[in-house]
Amino acid sequence: MESLKQRILKDGHILDGNILKVDSFINHQIDPLLAFDIGKEFYNRFQNTQIDKILTIETSGIAFALCAGYHFNVPVVFAKKHTGINMSSVVYQSTVYSYTKQYNYTISVSKQFISAGENLLIIDDFLANGQAVLGLVNIANQAKSKVSGVGIVIEKGFQPGRKNIRSLGIRVESLAIIESFKDNKIIFREALKK
Ligand code: 5GP
Repeated sequence: MESLKQRILKDGHILDGNILKVDSFINHQIDPLLAFDIGKEFYNRFQNTQIDKILTIETSGIAFALCAGYHFNVPVVFAKKHTGINMSSVVYQSTVYSYTKQYNYTISVSKQFISAGENLLIIDDFLANGQAVLGLVNIANQAKSKVSGVGIVIEKGFQPGRKNIRSLGIRVESLAIIESFKDNKIIFREALKK
């Protein structure tokens, strides 16, 4: 997605540990027009696939999942990282290792909101090693729902996330794939090499 790549080049910053900081338009401050276009692009890519619901993970996945959900006209469910008294105790749970924070945390989805036989589209902001997405796939499996695809805003193609998800036979669509941060420059993968 060209406008996303241009924005990453303009406003993204490479941090130590192969982290891309995009908090001026994705992770802290959010650009609504870009987010809306991202949602439309996910719709374009998955419109011929049966999608009954979108599943994401708080916090940064929510905005993009919501924009996609608008176009698909389906509900958006997000896995919670913290459970509170207002959350049902009847939940599916999975453990996820955080790439950026370097610790394990538990994600929870109320059993009320995903059901057997539903076709889910998983959406997240970044794909690195794939742990967040695999945690969501694990929850989908517990619910006996089907993961029809995974949509990612920014994939770091030099990390094994795509391979880990593809090995489960799940389609992955990323709107910008970074090939490397060589010489402190953001290099994108060309579309055909996906
Ligand atoms: P994974 O679970 O695929 O290893 O990492 C994906 C998760 O870690 C995303 O949900 C995202 O929050 C975070 N993440 C991984 N790499 C980056 C990065 O380079 N920049 C930012 N901002 N977040 C990242």
